[in-house]
Parts: sequence; C-alpha cells; structure tokens
Amino acid sequence: MVKDNFRVIVIGAGMAGILAGIKLKEAGYSNVVIYEKADRVGGTWRENTYPGLTCDVPSHHYTYTFARNPDWSRHLSSGGEIQAYFERTIQKYQIEQHIQFNMEVLQARFDSGCWHVQMSDGSSDQANVVIAATGVLHHPAYPNIEGVEAFEGDLFHTARWDHGVTLEGKRVGVIGMGSTGVQIISELSAGGIDVSHFVRNPQWIMPVENGYFSQEERSAFRTDPKILSDSMDFEGYTAAVERYTEALISADSEGGRAMAQACLDNLEKNVAEQGLKEQLRPDHQALCKRLIFSPDYYMAIQRVNAHLVRSDITRIETTGIRTNDGVLHELDIIALATGFKSDQFMRPMRVIGRDGADIETLWSVRPVAYLAISMPDFPNFFMLNGPNGPVGNFSLIDIAEHQWGYIEQLLEQLTSGKYNEISASEEAMRTFDADRIAAAKSTVWYTGGCKSWYLDASGIPASWPWTYSRFVDDMRRPQWADFDLI
Ligand code: NAP
Repeated sequence: MVKDNFRVIVIGAGMAGILAGIKLKEAGYSNVVIYEKADRVGGTWRENTYPGLTCDVPSHHYTYTFARNPDWSRHLSSGGEIQAYFERTIQKYQIEQHIQFNMEVLQARFDSGCWHVQMSDGSSDQANVVIAATGVLHHPAYPNIEGVEAFEGDLFHTARWDHGVTLEGKRVGVIGMGSTGVQIISELSAGGIDVSHFVRNPQWIMPVENGYFSQEERSAFRTDPKILSDSMDFEGYTAAVERYTEALISADSEGGRAMAQACLDNLEKNVAEQGLKEQLRPDHQALCKRLIFSPDYYMAIQRVNAHLVRSDITRIETTGIRTNDGVLHELDIIALATGFKSDQFMRPMRVIGRDGADIETLWSVRPVAYLAISMPDFPNFFMLNGPNGPVGNFSLIDIAEHQWGYIEQLLEQLTSGKYNEISASEEAMRTFDADRIAAAKSTVWYTGGCKSWYLDASGIPASWPWTYSRFVDDMRRPQWADFDLI
C-alpha cells in the first residue's frame, strides 16, 4: 500500500506523539492525524506548571536527537522552557497542521481490517494503524483524606496548579515528598513563603548542581553543533544510565552502593539539626522509590519559613490540616503533591481489538504489552511509553526514540504489503511477561522495602526490570517469530 493511502492515527500530542508525527512525516507518511484532548501540545509539560517545576534529566539529553536545542538556559531545564521547546519543535517540523486539538479519543475498535475511532465531539475516523502516545503519569492521584471538601482555602493537585491564587503572604501546605513536593517546597521556601511539608515517608535525595549556560556557551552551541554534541558527553551519560539501571536490578551493585552513599552523605552533611535529620531519614533502600534529584531541598526545609510535618494526617478541616498528634496546622492553600495513577495509560479510552478482545480484560490484573509496544489481538495498535517500559531517572525522549525505531519497522511490513495485520503473539506476550515479572522481583523496587507508583495492584514493579543496553538491543529489530503476522 502506498504510504499516502496509509492512514495513521496518533493519540496524544505530548513528547511521544510529536515524535511520531515528525518521524512519520519524514518517512513519507502523509495521511497522518494526531488527536490531542487539550488545546496545546506538551503532555506532562503542559499539565504541570507548579512553582519550581524542573526536569531532572540534563537539558541537552532531554531533547530529540534530531532537534537539539542550543538555547537551554540551565543544566536542568524548567518546565516552561521545555514546553516552549515542544511548541517550537512542532512549528519547525510543520507538525501543527496534522494535530487536531480538543479531540479526545473515546474508543478505538478494530473491525474488518482497520481501526474505527470515536472522538469526544461525536465524530469518527478510520485508520490502518493507531499509535497510542498517551503518556504514563497524567491521571492525578487524589489522596483519600477525610474532609478534603471542608477546606475553606484553596486546594488543588499539583498537576492542576491554580495560578489565579496568589502565594505571597499565604500559609501553604504541601502533601507529598516525591520529586514534585520537593521541587515546590524548594521554590516556595526560597521565595520566603510560609510552607509546611506533610511527609508520610521521607525519600532519599541525590544532590545535583543546576548551573547556568553562559551566553558564550549558548552562542558556541548555536554556531557549531559539534561543540554542543562534544559538550554532551554521550559516553558518560550512557554509562550513567547503564549504572543506574544496573543499580535498580541489584542494589548491591557498585553503582547502587555509590548512589545510596551519595544520598546518605547528602542527608548527613546538609541537615544540621539531629532531630530534623532523623525525621528526614528514609526507612527504605535508596532507589526503591524513584530517586529525587535536588540541589536545595535540605537547605529549603531548614529555613525559618519552612516546617516539616511528620505526624500522619488525620483529616483536613475548614482552616487547615489536623495531624495525629492533635495539632491543627492552619493553612490558606493546600497543594496535593500526591502523584499519579500510573496504571491508566490510554484509559479511560476503550480499546477493542480483533474478535472483540477488550483491553480491560487483557489488563484486568495489570497493564501488559509485549516489549511495552504491542498486544495480542490488537493488530496494528502500537504504544510509545506503554506498560512496563523503562521509566526511570533518564530521558523518556530517548526511550521513545528507540521504541519508534522498532515501530517503524513494523509499519514497513504493513506498507510494503507483506502483511495486513501485526500484533504480538499470545505466547510471546506470556513468555515476555513471565520473564519480566521474575526479573522485577529481584529489583530494588521490589526488595527495597517501600511502596511506590512503580508497583502494580499486586505489588509487582511495573517498569522495565533489565538494563538500558538490553532495552536498546531489544529495540533494534523485531523478532518476527514473536508476532502474529496476517
Ligand atoms: P510521587 O513520587 O508518587 O509522590 C507522591 C507523594 O505523595 C509521596 O511522598 C506519597 O507518600 C505522598 N502521598 C500520597 N498519598 C498520600 C496521603 N494520603 N497522605 C500523605 N502523603 C501521601 O509523585 P510526584 O512527586 O508527583 O512524582 C511522580 C513522578 O513524576 C516522579 O516519580 C517522576 O517520575 C515524575 N516527576 C519528575 C520530575 C522531574 O524532575 N523529572 C518532577 C516531578 C515529577 P508515600 O511515599 O508515603 O506514599
């Protein structure tokens, strides 16, 4: 089939959907539409706008390989700069005309050899292939705390930050000590705002510097891409990612021990008062939860305008948060930095595959996908950053680019007319998932003595449990024997 007649629907115009759009166009697919539920691109970077939002992946590594950005202002970029990067990128690659905004896909059904897709405005579409690029952490998790509705101040989830609410002169409570809570507390504390940090389980913090690129550096990067790529130290970055994944697989690895020691030293050296230090000491192994990188949280929480609250929350009342020790912490604003439901992916969208196969049935125990990309009986439906893929302290753009290289090879088999339908076989899916679960049980996410969003409903870590290099190898070329090819 010629690529012009081959229709591809991409769902989501975040980092991965934009990537798919650019790559499809580059490969000669012109019949492409990207459906985006919101009115702008950017995914997580559009939805998260909280004060202090910063990416913990080095700026120059958090870009598409084909669209480097010489203009990052800092070593770790702010959310606003990243959002602007994606907005510029769709202009540069002329992707905007392929995106239909304010179009939520409600259902995708495979019937008579093609996908029939229904949208929120009542319209429908058909395509040969659907690419789900719907993101991982985008459904806010609201805590089950009594009295949330009773609060008379302003209360919102951090992914729904209300910028209409002024912070100056207010008492702000932040619930949660993941990367989000840590970044907000650091920013507000530095700004002199009175902040209370409600921490149920303290997390390990890896120290990191976040310097600025000088005007000279940025102008050199702009003039000579080689200077930029030399500065990126690909070897060092890849080695760090490899060491990190090895540490996840074995906390007793050299890298794991070094990272744990760096976090411990950070706590020991940078928190002065012994009582506070003990209150901030995690009771689990480093890396069991996603590691937090912060240059300044410990400094922030020691300011006079910052208060750490370790007593569990009893309930929220009209004027603040009551903790188990009976204290009422009076507040004007409560920010819920309580994370996301990590098992949703493209849901609540309905996906019905061959012969009525339903994704809710396939995913009734846990979300599964062969190599995080394909599912049996869901032919020509491929995912970017799908279930159980590598999600860690490294660039998801890099992960998505590798996945795209793999998906592109599946598409070529379809457009060349060799096959009409491609999906992972039942057996390949079963074997992959059994191996994955066995490997997941020896990762630090499982053995490290903590609960986190990495764990699925039955307590099995839901992320890639092998090394980065294995992922890269697996993405090089499809093993055709693992697919049902029709
Ligand atoms: P998170 O890591 O899931 O942390 C949620 C926090 O909320 C935890 O401290 C949790 O405590 C607490 N919590 C949840 N329910 C609670 C309750 N009922 N009472 C008290 N505390 C409660 O969420 P996140 O910080 O939003 O981060 C999510 C992920 O987003 C990160 O792991 C990362 O992948 C990504 N992220 C990345 C960056 C970046 O720099 N790249 C920045 C922000 C976020 P427990 O530990 O006790 O459960």
